Amino acid sequence: MISVTGREDVARVFVAEMRRDPSLRIEFVDALDPRYPRAEKWVIIVSTQFGCPVGCLMCETGGWYRGNLSVDEILWQVDQVVFARHPDGVVPSRKFKVQFARMGEPSLNPDVLDALRALPSRYRAAGLIPCVATTAPASARRWFNELSAIKRDMYSCGAFQLQFSVNSTDETVRDRVMPVRKWSLEEIADFGHGFYRQGDRKVVLNFALAEGWPLDAGRLAAVFDPGCFIIKITPLNPTARARDKGIGTVLYTDRQDACDRVVEELAAFGFQTIISIGSDEEMAIRSNCGQGVAVGRAASGFKQARAQVLGSPFMP
Ligand code: SF4
Repeated sequence: MISVTGREDVARVFVAEMRRDPSLRIEFVDALDPRYPRAEKWVIIVSTQFGCPVGCLMCETGGWYRGNLSVDEILWQVDQVVFARHPDGVVPSRKFKVQFARMGEPSLNPDVLDALRALPSRYRAAGLIPCVATTAPASARRWFNELSAIKRDMYSCGAFQLQFSVNSTDETVRDRVMPVRKWSLEEIADFGHGFYRQGDRKVVLNFALAEGWPLDAGRLAAVFDPGCFIIKITPLNPTARARDKGIGTVLYTDRQDACDRVVEELAAFGFQTIISIGSDEEMAIRSNCGQGVAVGRAASGFKQARAQVLGSPFMP
C-alpha cells in the first residue's frame, strides 16, 4: 500500500503498488453514501486495469495503460477494505456494492468475470450487489454475453447493476468523448433489453452532463424502453484533462435549474432519472479516476499497449 487518503465517514482512496513494480500502481475506494450509515449502504470501488486503454476525454486514467489486473489482484482490493473492518468476512450492510468502476474498462479484462463468480463465496454478504460501469467496447461482445449469464445464474432479482457510460445522445460527440470503437445507442438498447429480467435493477444509462454534449430525451425515448433502463445524471468532474480540453460541466454552473430541466424532459418520456451529485467534500476526497496514481507515472508506450489489447478498434 502506497497511501490512504480521505476520511472514514466520507470516502478513503487507497493507492497500491502491484507486482513490486512502481509503474503498476492502482487505486481503489472505500466509500459511504452520505445519505446512509454504513449498516445501510457500503460501497467499494475497484480498479480492473493498470491505467486504461480507452482514453476518455475527461479521465485522468486515459493516457497510460499497462494491462489487466488478475482476478486475485482485483479481489485483493476488496479484501483490503472488507477484512480491515470485518476480519470474519461477514458484511452486515444491507446494501454492499462492489463497483468495477475505477481505473480501467472492466469489459476488456476477462478476469473481471472470474472475480464476479468468486465474490459470493469470498464474503458472507447478503447485501452484495456488484456493479459494472462500461463504455461498451465493440470488441467485448463475448464478455458481455458471459456477464449476462453470470448475472442470470448468480445475481438475479436486483442483486446486480449494469451501467453504460453514454454521455451524449449524439454519436459524433460520444466518439469524441470515448475514443474507442463501441456499441451505438441502438446496440446498447438491444443488449440491455436482453439483459434485463423482471425483478432486476434497471440498466443504467449514465450521462456526465457537459456543455456541448447533447442529451436529447426524444432520441433516448426512440431507442430505449423506460421499463428496462434508468437514466443517471452526474456532473463532469473537473479533471485536469477536462480543463485542458475546455470542457465544463452543466451541473456546476447551473445546478438546480439544469437538473430540474433534464428530469422534467426525461419524465415526459417515461424515464426515471437519478441525479448523482456528491458534496464538494466528497468529490474532493474521492477525487477522479486515475488521479491517485497520476503522480510519477509515464505515458510512453500507451498507444502501442492499447492497440495490443484491442486490435485496432479505436476511432480515427
Ligand atoms: S472513464 Fe473509464 S473507460 Fe474512460 S478512460 Fe477512464 S477508466 Fe477508462
